[in-house]
Amino acid sequence: MQEKGLLIVLSGPSGVGKGTVRKELFSQPDTAFEYSVSATTRLPREGERNGIDYFFKTREEFEEMIKHDKLLEYAEFVGNYYGTPVDYVRETLDSGKDVFLEIEVQGASQVRSKFPEGLFIFLAPPSLSELENRIVTRGTETEDLIRSRMRAAREEIEMMELYDYVVENDQVELASERIKAIVVAEHCRRERV
Ligand code: 5GP
Repeated sequence: MQEKGLLIVLSGPSGVGKGTVRKELFSQPDTAFEYSVSATTRLPREGERNGIDYFFKTREEFEEMIKHDKLLEYAEFVGNYYGTPVDYVRETLDSGKDVFLEIEVQGASQVRSKFPEGLFIFLAPPSLSELENRIVTRGTETEDLIRSRMRAAREEIEMMELYDYVVENDQVELASERIKAIVVAEHCRRERV
């Protein structure tokens, strides 16, 4: 029988650089896991493409997905819905491939209760002031949004202890290498006889 793939969940506070680390991971030819594209009701940022960065949905469309159990998890974050389409995750895991989710911490907790056997990695900022710096210099948020993202970040950092691994995002390439090493190690640990 085909072995199931591993569900890899990368989470951590907004602004810590999850998206950047994920892009770095998937730009490398030896990354052997599949990225699960999320659905969201937030508007696309410049350069973002539907179906590649996110599936951009209206609130009505998203609520239909919730109603019809199309999401493995979802959360409302700073006024918008974000969620993981469940069919893609299940089909890909069943085909034996590893699936990679990059999601915020409320969603990661929901995945933990549905897939306790998943691999949960917390991406941590070197410090809170460094995190604020990153959110501000990204320049895509208003002052109000920065404040609510920082409030969320403080609460999110307290969830760190629920994860299997904590990876500090001091440098994107290093963080990405550490995640790949964790996945390899995890396969070796789980597949030993
Ligand atoms: P952004 O608006 O900056 O792209 O994302 C905001 C937050 O939502 C980030 O922390 C990002 O990781 C998270 N996020 C993206 N996709 C999902 C998802 O499918 N589910 C959940 N729960 N969070 C998500």
